[in-house]
Amino acid sequence: MNRLRESGDPLPQPKGPFSDAEALELLLAYRKDPSNVPCPRCGPDQIEVLAFIEPEIDPNGFASMTEPEGEYAAALYCHTCQRAVGILAGASRED
Ligand SMILES: [Zn+2]
Repeated sequence: MNRLRESGDPLPQPKGPFSDAEALELLLAYRKDPSNVPCPRCGPDQIEVLAFIEPEIDPNGFASMTEPEGEYAAALYCHTCQRAVGILAGASRED
């Protein structure tokens, strides 16, 4: 299972980004099972889904919160290596 946020906890401050290769691993794991995404470095039970955001981030770097339906991105955060990444999590229809 992913980490769950206690209500009232402040949002964590990420210490840095994931590499492209790690972001891809996270994306594939998320698409396989969104409730169980391991960190490529730290293993399972460390990743928290912070928020669902619009896939398009505006030029000022702000992302709008959205619902996890259709095209969306998920902001993932690892509690152990304290890194965060946004992945395009929405199902891309290929049929
Ligand atoms: Zn980690």
